[in-house]
Amino acid sequence: MGIYLDYNASAPIDPRVLDFMVDVYKSAYGNADSRTHAFGDAARSVVEDARKSVAELIGCRTDEVFFTSGATESNNIALLGLQDYSNDKKKKHVVTTSIEHKAVLETALFMESNGYTVDFIDPNQDGIVSAEKIAGRVCPETLLVSVMHVNNETGAVQPVEKIGELLSDRDVLFHVDVTQSCGKLIEEIRNIKCDMLSMSAHKLAGPQGVGALILKRKKYKLPPIKAIMYGGQQEKGIRPGTVPVALIAGFGKACELAQKESQENRKKCNEIKGALIRLLDESGLEYSVNGSVENTLYNTLNIRIKGVSSEALMIASKGYCGISNGSACTSNDYSPSYVLKAMGLPDDHIRESLRISWGNQDISIIEREFQKLLTIAKKMK
Ligand code: PMP
Repeated sequence: MGIYLDYNASAPIDPRVLDFMVDVYKSAYGNADSRTHAFGDAARSVVEDARKSVAELIGCRTDEVFFTSGATESNNIALLGLQDYSNDKKKKHVVTTSIEHKAVLETALFMESNGYTVDFIDPNQDGIVSAEKIAGRVCPETLLVSVMHVNNETGAVQPVEKIGELLSDRDVLFHVDVTQSCGKLIEEIRNIKCDMLSMSAHKLAGPQGVGALILKRKKYKLPPIKAIMYGGQQEKGIRPGTVPVALIAGFGKACELAQKESQENRKKCNEIKGALIRLLDESGLEYSVNGSVENTLYNTLNIRIKGVSSEALMIASKGYCGISNGSACTSNDYSPSYVLKAMGLPDDHIRESLRISWGNQDISIIEREFQKLLTIAKKMK
């Protein structure tokens, strides 16, 4: 199958996570919310162990972790779950950015069509939003500020710590989508002053279909979130539905591994980034990096190769090199990336842009396959 360079879309599951999940599927098959037998107790104990691992990685309390089906659902709950509170408080203003994942953007647009005013703040040319601009839009009617930590297309790290500081004495909720940074920028996430965090297990080598919404307590009180689905009291009523025990166990295991191995992963990923840039430099191709070179996550490169259509390059390399030119969630849509557009890049530049994202992989194989990709790119010019 060649080399997979689309970790930001989904990272392969760590075999240790998978083995653990298989054991859980075999041994803890009860419903974690069953209170009438030991099978329920066994499943619940697995879920609660995983909750501890997630809480430890994030640096929060276990009763602040709410399991969901992934970051899309977490983002939806974080925004839509505030509607009752916003009606009571007459706060109908939301501040977010124009480069959020669609799970925030489309939810915010839905809210806009339901009587909210939403400010979508554009980033600068480096793909980074200004903390001051965000904070400057907050007014007494502002319900929520929602800003992602790391952009999934460019890897640009947003100043969420600074935004958290600027908002800390304001009467506004702050939500951060940490889907791309979770398990990678561990200390940074722990330092964000915020009310809510969203994440998905599959971005940190856990299984697809599970994630969490972290609701941080302030003076012992949870943020005023209500469920957006009905049907049960699981996850304290915030997310009804039978909890997927083995998926949650896998998520917990992935968090444990990320915490133990993050330094080593960061080092390896940085080496890979260095090697990719060296190969690009040596290729003779005219290329540029989209976004800030310094403030980009260590596993992502978004580049433009002048004169080479990214669509054509992806088709030519489809069999052996898994690269992309944007979010998998929008890859059915052939319009130019809305993230690169918001950065002010022209359409022809965007059409020649592609995203490469990697993990703790064998550097020599990446080098070999990337070299092949560059050879194809040269032929396309
Ligand atoms: N937010 C960000 C920043 C993402 O990158 C993604 C996944 N591409 C999501 C949210 C949604 O995650 P999921 O598809 O697992 O629900």
